[in-house]
Amino acid sequence: MAAAKKSDKTSDKKKSGKHPGKHGGGKHSGKKSSTTSSKGSAPAGAAAPDWDVPPTEVLRAPAGFDLAAFDRHSTPGFGGDKAAGEALVADHADELSDLQERLFAEGRSGGSRSVLLVLQGMDTSGKGGIVRHVVGLVDPQGVAHRSFGVPTPEERRHHYLWRVRRALPRPGYIGVFDRSHYEDVLIARVDSLAPDETLEKRYDEINRFEEKVVASGTTIVKVALLVSYEEQRARLMERLERPDKFWKYNPADVDSRKKWPAYQDAYQTVLDRTNTEIAPWHVIPADRKWFARLAVSELLLDALRRLDLGWPPADFDVDVEKRRLAAT
Ligand code: AMP
Ligand code: MG
Repeated sequence: MAAAKKSDKTSDKKKSGKHPGKHGGGKHSGKKSSTTSSKGSAPAGAAAPDWDVPPTEVLRAPAGFDLAAFDRHSTPGFGGDKAAGEALVADHADELSDLQERLFAEGRSGGSRSVLLVLQGMDTSGKGGIVRHVVGLVDPQGVAHRSFGVPTPEERRHHYLWRVRRALPRPGYIGVFDRSHYEDVLIARVDSLAPDETLEKRYDEINRFEEKVVASGTTIVKVALLVSYEEQRARLMERLERPDKFWKYNPADVDSRKKWPAYQDAYQTVLDRTNTEIAPWHVIPADRKWFARLAVSELLLDALRRLDLGWPPADFDVDVEKRRLAAT
């Protein structure tokens, strides 16, 4: 997954020299960072800018959410700037990684819980950057990443949820969907890939599907990365201007872009009809990449914190094992 790919410098022009992927590193150092200490750990010097309103609250799509009125350049709930946002992501990285390891350990020890991060957004909304910069903060062996593209011939022979079910995270894993079953009510709606009555039924079907997924022990974190029309143009243009970004450009992106209003309608309907209590949508302004990354890292962290993860007890006699080992 998000290993060491080269060229994805953010289009937040300047690089911050910071490497959030390397915090103390000590996965196997025996010393675990506390899972409770991060809240107040201020960066040296300035007062720690933090959330004015908890991200889970301020980013959650309210009932009646109006997509058209949403400011995609804003940083709701967060008073800090880019440097502060990046610092907070870095500050929380150890805790994120520690909790992920606990989840993984629990899964290895018979637990049934997992987390699923669903990333939806138009082209260039920053889904890949989230995978690299946020999901990349945790141990890749505990991540089950899946991108959903145009269905393969085999996938097309099945119900649209077939490939989704197969990609659900097993116990202990953080699943990451880069696009998801929501494409089946987004592009499918915009391009009329199924009859209207079929599409209509999908919203409730998706809600029931997610209900089952949650009931089986998976916490679903749904994120809509909302990039503005203008910013999308700039990001696509950048892909055309930089040889290291050509690979990300797809001429079809412009065709989708031409259908922008239809996509916005389709997103609005998704938010209206699948924003459930058990699997709510979060709406993230995505024009500032640093903010979107901060936001998603906080939502993921919150989901993990809520699991109240411990360490599985030894299923062997520690003293006996110590003696056995010492005798070798
Ligand atoms: P990308 O994420 O940029 O690699 O693009 C993947 C493409 O696959 C996007 O244009 C999606 O809309 C498209 N896609 C994903 N899921 C589906 C689906 N279920 N049906 C049709 N197209 C899809
Ligand atoms: Mg693309």
